[in-house]
Amino acid sequence: MLRVGVNGYGTIGKRVADAVAAQPDMEVAGVAKTTPNFEAEAAHRRGYPVHAAREDRRDAFDDAGVPVAGDLDDLVVESDIVVDCTPAGIGAENRAVYERHDTPALYQGGEDADVADASFNARANYDEVAASDAEHVRVVSCNTTGLSRVLAPLDEQYGVEKARATLVRRGGDPSQPDRGPINDILPDPVTVPSHHGPDVNTVLPDLAVDTMGVTVPATLMHLHSVNVTLETEAEAAAVAETLTDESRVFLVPGDARVAGPAHLKEYAQDAGRPRGDLWENCVWAESIAVEGRDLYFFQAIHQESDVVPENVDAIRAVCTDTEAAESVVETNRALGVGFGESEETRRVAADGEGAAASADD
Ligand code: NAD
Repeated sequence: MLRVGVNGYGTIGKRVADAVAAQPDMEVAGVAKTTPNFEAEAAHRRGYPVHAAREDRRDAFDDAGVPVAGDLDDLVVESDIVVDCTPAGIGAENRAVYERHDTPALYQGGEDADVADASFNARANYDEVAASDAEHVRVVSCNTTGLSRVLAPLDEQYGVEKARATLVRRGGDPSQPDRGPINDILPDPVTVPSHHGPDVNTVLPDLAVDTMGVTVPATLMHLHSVNVTLETEAEAAAVAETLTDESRVFLVPGDARVAGPAHLKEYAQDAGRPRGDLWENCVWAESIAVEGRDLYFFQAIHQESDVVPENVDAIRAVCTDTEAAESVVETNRALGVGFGESEETRRVAADGEGAAASADD
């Protein structure tokens, strides 16, 4: 069993800890937090040993009645690998702690790419990272993960001459009442291209991709408007089939009448997903359109959870000899990734009947 420490137990960290606990070949060595808040109490209730990330905060945990298993150094020593899920920029500061104990570490997409020896997305570059013997690896951000999962298969199947995406970004996560905007629509960043395209190139270095970002008053998901100029012509139905074959892409059928992220989140909750998580890219089958070599579609990305299975695969890529396909299947199986509607989504994408169905109520 791989012993995995999770440093930073917020939006991403709590999900990574639960995903690790669900794997047959991994266990949670413990989690580290700075603040003994409701999340620390919940971690303790889930049975994860809670460590005080900062020595000067240990008394605060005692005062709050959250038992402390040790400090960050103790957690690193007890772990075969640490997944750093601290806020952007803190992971870079923590690298020295992991190196001091000669413990491999994963970092998140809020860190600059140079925090690690390699950036990672299972669909894009699992094999390269596994072969490189990199011990400090950054799992790319939610938006970059979402783009990489569709651009990699499109490039393999048809060739990508140029990809362009406008990323309509949620202003904050549901648990972040201090984020915004609350009544505005912001070019974010206002400079073009946004950093997301270059970030895709950290895992797909030869892919031509430009991105623009807009931030809106929403918390549920990001929405991507994607345009890809392919190197060869393709029918929309064939593209739908290509994407359906991807285990971490959910082709949303038109007759499901999913209007947007609110419906997707409701669907995930109805399906009994933990925290209403959607680990898959959600591509509207009806939106897939091709004109000549120009492909268009919309996809929604659940920022809180799409990187979670990627972190699990990155653990195996760094610590084991597990092949990419084997790891992805194992991770998907343990978490329950995939809605398994491939025949239906193929049919709906091919005949476009969803558009008519959604007009009548
Ligand atoms: P978060 O604020 O929800 O959680 C961070 C946690 O780390 C909090 O519990 C905080 O108390 C704790 N913390 C703060 N300083 C710490 C320290 N010095 N040591 C240990 N713990 C500390 O943040 P998040 O949204 O989970 O983001 C974590 C990382 O994941 C960032 O790099 C972020 O860019 C990236 N990421 C976030 C999202 C998202 O949408 N939330 C998506 C993909 C990647």
